[in-house]
Amino acid sequence: MIVYLDNASTTRVCEEAARAALEVMTQEFGNPSARYGLAQKAARRLEEDRAAVAAALGCESGELYFTSCGTEGDNWAVRAAVEYGRRRGKHIVTTAIEHSAVLEPLKELEGKGYSITRLRPDKSGHVSPRDLREALREDTVLVSMMLVNNELGTIQPVQECAAITKAYCPDILFHTDAVQAFLKVPFTPKELGVDLLTISGHKVRAPKGIGAQYIRAGLKLSPLLRGGGQEKGLRPGTEPTAQIAALAAACRVWESWSERYRSHMAQLKEYALEKLCQTVPDLEVVNAGDAPHICAVSLPGYPSEMLVRALNDRGVYVSSGSACHKGKPSHVFGALGLPKRTLMGVLRVSFSPDSTREEVDALAEGLAAIRAGHVGA
Ligand code: PLP
Repeated sequence: MIVYLDNASTTRVCEEAARAALEVMTQEFGNPSARYGLAQKAARRLEEDRAAVAAALGCESGELYFTSCGTEGDNWAVRAAVEYGRRRGKHIVTTAIEHSAVLEPLKELEGKGYSITRLRPDKSGHVSPRDLREALREDTVLVSMMLVNNELGTIQPVQECAAITKAYCPDILFHTDAVQAFLKVPFTPKELGVDLLTISGHKVRAPKGIGAQYIRAGLKLSPLLRGGGQEKGLRPGTEPTAQIAALAAACRVWESWSERYRSHMAQLKEYALEKLCQTVPDLEVVNAGDAPHICAVSLPGYPSEMLVRALNDRGVYVSSGSACHKGKPSHVFGALGLPKRTLMGVLRVSFSPDSTREEVDALAEGLAAIRAGHVGA
């Protein structure tokens, strides 16, 4: 049995999504930009699929642009927002716990003379709206704040922060990375009051290689890529219709089970935290997470990488933090100011609607066995 509890990293593609992709790849494979029947059929399907993803996100189809992944969406938001505000200033506000898909393009901009304010979270893993208010300046052009943190599962106060930002100056663009929030917590871009929002398919049982960007209606942004006129000229490149069909299918299934999925993941997380604390001596809950699918625990004195390897040997897959930080302690856990022994022993456990209690039990048994067979460093 594979015990897969690393669903914040990626998810197994659901049957419906795989079937939709196969159908488009083998039957409705036309290029939506061509003029003949096969292509027109592909173009119609593309728009139906866009409508399905837009409905799941709670926005208009016209506000949704397909991208290749969350990283592309985050990079695009940062670069386009900076271009949009170039006459107004060179100051950006973000948080110290963003994904590297936001932090890295910001670092690049810093090297080009931009000033970046990185809001620090409190010990519970939340940034403060008051800190954001104090950080805003006349020359601020962008605020980028994630909705759900990928390592802690904490929900950031995006709605309140967007309102504060817009009240301070409506011209400041507000972007949220909703890659871990999409379908897991209820929200719409309009309710949040954001201008730009990024999602990614492979976190919600669609394949890797597909994402989408919400751009508020009426906002004119520059494209990241230059080429043909696809996606209203804003995201050129032949549309990956099979991945789009798969994302739409994954959204349709998730939408129809949404409440059950959320409560299943939330209950499983509660069960996991209880079970792990009961079974594994000294285990600490680093963050129980607000979102239903992510929590972080630590076995102080046991290096995460060693735990991940030892669990792997038992067929149990969890993460030592974001999959994008191989080997290094993550900047997110670092920002919480955890004691070093706790920091080094952190594991992220994350669920999908397919996760089971048996998987949680196997993780608990595995950790208990590792704990029993080793002396802490
Ligand atoms: N943002 C967050 C919060 C993420 O968790 C991830 C992936 O782990 C990304 C962005 C990047 O998404 P993708 O893997 O689709 O590029």
